Amino acid sequence: MTKRVTILGSTGSIGESTLDLVRRAKPGDIKIVSLTANSNAKKLAAQAIEFNAEYVALANHKNANVLQEALSGTAIEVGVGPEALIEAATRAADFCMAAIIGAAGLEPTLAAVDQGIHLGLANKECLVCAGDLFMERVKAKGTTLLPVDSEHNAIFQVLESDKPEGVRRLILTASGGPFREASIETLKKVTREDALNHPVWSMGAKISIDSATLMNKGLELIEASYLFDRPSSEIDILVHPQSIIHSMVEYIDGSILAQLGSPDMRTPIAYAMGWPDRMAAPVERLDLTKISGLTFFEPDTQKFPSLRLAREALEAGGKAPCVLNAANEIAVAAFLKEQVKFLDIPRIVETALDQHAKQSCFSRSPCDVAEIISTDNEARITAHEHIVSL
Ligand code: NAD
Ligand code: MG
Repeated sequence: MTKRVTILGSTGSIGESTLDLVRRAKPGDIKIVSLTANSNAKKLAAQAIEFNAEYVALANHKNANVLQEALSGTAIEVGVGPEALIEAATRAADFCMAAIIGAAGLEPTLAAVDQGIHLGLANKECLVCAGDLFMERVKAKGTTLLPVDSEHNAIFQVLESDKPEGVRRLILTASGGPFREASIETLKKVTREDALNHPVWSMGAKISIDSATLMNKGLELIEASYLFDRPSSEIDILVHPQSIIHSMVEYIDGSILAQLGSPDMRTPIAYAMGWPDRMAAPVERLDLTKISGLTFFEPDTQKFPSLRLAREALEAGGKAPCVLNAANEIAVAAFLKEQVKFLDIPRIVETALDQHAKQSCFSRSPCDVAEIISTDNEARITAHEHIVSL
């Protein structure tokens, strides 16, 4: 049977890797329903034509005419603006890959959740900013949530989720990013290019910076807590520079189960898109005889305060993770525009968390999407104000 697949954020790193697998699938196995992008109309049009998509949506109106012109004379329907992203996510599909970056992905991803289908979740920020609400919606709609983030995908593969009492802890592994061994003095001088240059994974710009600050691992800690319903105290993080073990689950009998593989996102993407069957992925096979060693150590939260901030936000609960995420998005965007320094990123996030804690808005989880969006906006404003004052 043909699987109908939608990709939210098809022009990004995860989106392109997903399409790479679709391209290699047997003819007739997969039909592309909707594809979406923020502003890269040219790439979106080329993808839509190659995969004969039914519908494409561009979030930003700026390049709408480029998209419309490129697709004129085809049967591909075109939509523009935020409502078009919802339409893309709402068109009947069997599998949706949620691969928009940042909190901007929340509403379209929730629209896909509402279909009650198989959802491949790459967009970790939507779980960070709306964890409780998102998971409740998944449950209510009977959606099958398939984690795509490599660590969470690894845990999903080895977790006996029907026997939660047997689980002692989850162990998320981290590559440590490009500055694992850098001194604080070096971190003060880090450039945009240094930070974008990840030693192991090839990814979009925002997540590459998050990996360099270790905020990515912090967001993943929060993501794991909501996905697998475990408190902060039962989720450990270990730096594992080889990035061969993608994460582990420790059971109460002392067993530790791990998932191993080459660091290539096409493995977790194939797992999610093929589920419950296995789907072939053209990744480099792991040659165990060539692995000289697997090393692990505790992350340095003095050098990388983002990880501490994320754990504190998770433990504070309520709206704190939403504030953390929004302030981080603003700080990373400013760093990418070379408006702030690398070490300013956690400072901006910490200031936003402190200010919002003073207003005691952390006491309870947001009750609806409107409240999440307004918390997200307020935190963005606080972060902006801090940046301007630097
Ligand atoms: P990316 O920047 O390469 O691509 C992001 C996609 O989202 C693009 O298609 C872009 O057009 C779209 N987009 C950006 N802003 C938007 C907006 N405001 N409205 C609508 N669409 C918008 O990002 P990526 O690296 O592919 O990451 C996507 C998600 O997957 C992120 O949440 C990231 O944390 C997660 N993730 C990525 C990787 C990886 O290897 N790249 C690994 C694990 C998890
Ligand atoms: Mg990850």
